[in-house]
Amino acid sequence: MTNHKKIAYRGSIFYFRDSANFANLPRADKTAGKEHYVYHEDGILIVEAGKVKDVGSYADMKKKIDHIKIVDYTGKLITPGFIDTHQHAAQSAIVAAYGEKLLGWLDQYVFPSESTYRDPHIAKKELNFFLDQLLMNGTTTAVSYGPLFYEATDIFFEELNRRKMRFITGNIMMDRNSPDTLCLSTQENYDIAKKLIKKWHNKGRLSFCLSPRFAISCSDKLLELCGSLKKEHPDLYIQTHLDENVNEIKEVKKLFPWSKNYLDVYDHFGLNDKRSVFGHCIHMTDPELEMLKKSHAVISWCPISNNFLGSGLFNIENVTKYTTNITLGSDWGGGNTLSMFAVMDEAYKVSMLQNYKLASMVRWFFATLGAARALQIDDKVGNFEIGKEADFIVVDPAATLYMRYRREKVTDIFELLFILMTLGCDPNIHATYIYGEPAYIKKEKQAVTVKVAHHKEKMTHK
Ligand SMILES: [Zn+2]
Repeated sequence: MTNHKKIAYRGSIFYFRDSANFANLPRADKTAGKEHYVYHEDGILIVEAGKVKDVGSYADMKKKIDHIKIVDYTGKLITPGFIDTHQHAAQSAIVAAYGEKLLGWLDQYVFPSESTYRDPHIAKKELNFFLDQLLMNGTTTAVSYGPLFYEATDIFFEELNRRKMRFITGNIMMDRNSPDTLCLSTQENYDIAKKLIKKWHNKGRLSFCLSPRFAISCSDKLLELCGSLKKEHPDLYIQTHLDENVNEIKEVKKLFPWSKNYLDVYDHFGLNDKRSVFGHCIHMTDPELEMLKKSHAVISWCPISNNFLGSGLFNIENVTKYTTNITLGSDWGGGNTLSMFAVMDEAYKVSMLQNYKLASMVRWFFATLGAARALQIDDKVGNFEIGKEADFIVVDPAATLYMRYRREKVTDIFELLFILMTLGCDPNIHATYIYGEPAYIKKEKQAVTVKVAHHKEKMTHK
């Protein structure tokens, strides 16, 4: 139930104003662009009926909170929840899988594991575990690939609806180049999507996303059917993979010999749109970037997964010459963490390898308001402007011994964000609020009992 009583949260507060964009955020000169974000070292956020009612410095708000319940988070940072634009909800079991690049990794690890979601009991257990992990990491909204099967994806929507999360997802689709256990017919893929759109699209805070896995595992007919669903429902989102791996690109060329380039395949079937979210975009050619610029499609940059699978380096300097519709994704499954702190950290390192300094503010923007804007939900989430939905996180910058030590030396918000992005992970998320309600509160020092599986085979050294 939504709490209709006003509650005031006290702590440091940081968010981007609606006026912020990629070009006007502070970079090397910390004074420029200050008017595009808000930072109150001692601030108050007032929430009522799931929405932001008021926000300001404690000194200014003192009188307004006389008769309101106050939750005191002094010493912690209250900030909008993260938005992760690329993740696979059905891949928790294969995170940290050794030794393969994209195509081998899919065959050896991903496909066998995803096929277990045919059993609704397994699906329910695994998907709830995934969502608990997501909230523990401070992610409040995501664009996510659901499982392949109807029951499992229906369960996923059910759980998201129960948790009141603003979420964009759909059944992952594939009808070729995959094992029998996971390969559905073209018609089955279509029917599942059709049924789920009817049941869940625009229900509560949920949106449906057409999710063809990637061109290699989708026939022309399936992509054509995705295009027809998009025509029927123009406000559907689309997500797929694009230019992730060089062998993948060669394979796409073989399967679609008529195409000018990889993006042309999706474009041909009506799947390159301002509501399309393309994962990776590492090996983009200039004509493809021109096409993205025209369609206003969204890029989901997944640096952790790109490094783990040895896929390549996203060239932000070049891409931003064409588009700034850039967001960040964990690519959970290929990525080994759901922590957006870690994703922002990796984005920095990938940029440094290419002699490009990626400012703290820019990365934080990509993971919050920038993503909300790219997904066209910035009238609802992404910052604390009055009336927006109150999805927020409470970050503890001193969650570990070293971070407490380092925190004491921090002098401004720039440095605070930088140390969080460089050193932070799930222990730094103290609480996650969804629509004004606590969805996760960190328990102090849990004792964890680990069950170790004893394998009969001898361990081999990898
Ligand atoms: Zn992916």
